[in-house]
Amino acid sequence: MERCGLIINGKFVEMRNVSGDEGEFLMDPVEVLNAVREGTVEAVVHTHDGAPLPSNRDIIGMRIWRVPWVISSHGLVRAFSLVDGLSVLELDVKSLLPQEVYDLIVKLSQ
Ligand SMILES: [Zn+2]
Repeated sequence: MERCGLIINGKFVEMRNVSGDEGEFLMDPVEVLNAVREGTVEAVVHTHDGAPLPSNRDIIGMRIWRVPWVISSHGLVRAFSLVDGLSVLELDVKSLLPQEVYDLIVKLSQ
């Protein structure tokens, strides 16, 4: 089961994955609503069992959540954003995330 969450006000907030499918995530909408009331969503975070690259489904999600997407797989963390709704651009994850948040997201997929 993939793990998922949001970075809000510089902090990682893990969300329950309510997707019934392996290899997918769907953040619990109630938890998301409660979390977004607390502040600004700065990134979407989830884990992969496979390569830390956005799936086709992730790219659809990136059109909705127009913030960086951080993917963690076996302790490897990468970040991406969608440019013009089309091109996936890799971001420098180390400069994107505070060290303590980066460390938490590494552990999420280990
Ligand atoms: Zn994904």
